[in-house]
Amino acid sequence: MRYVAGCCKKCGAKIKIVLGTLTPGEAKKKLEGIQMFECPGHHVELSGPLGYWNIDFGTVHEDDAGQPTEEEWLAGKREQYKHVVGTGQLDSVVDKVVGFSMGLCVVMRDGHKEYINFADSPSGKRYYFVGLKGAVRIPITEGA
Ligand SMILES: [Zn+2]
Repeated sequence: MRYVAGCCKKCGAKIKIVLGTLTPGEAKKKLEGIQMFECPGHHVELSGPLGYWNIDFGTVHEDDAGQPTEEEWLAGKREQYKHVVGTGQLDSVVDKVVGFSMGLCVVMRDGHKEYINFADSPSGKRYYFVGLKGAVRIPITEGA
């Protein structure tokens, strides 16, 4: 993957901005449009990240090393969650998919509304994560 890198002037956290299909200039523009952010160093700022992050937009790095394989990625997720399913199998582990909210998938499971996370695997396939292991599930009442 292509990325530009730098560090945070406030906390020293290393910052890596994955470009995807963007040029460094386009990535910079996007960052300039951000009004609020959470630094990987865990402070939240009510301003754009470029006031905090020293990013070298002139140097594009190329890095495929350290990327987990599909199997490694899935194994890691299965350690964390009871169910790791593709889009087609989501119906088999939840009662109903309600929709999407705040970047999470909203489902009904065992009669309760639940927000579940999802992500794309290294090969680009979407997976949904249901039932965080070791977590206490707090039921969310309808309409809350
Ligand atoms: Zn920081």
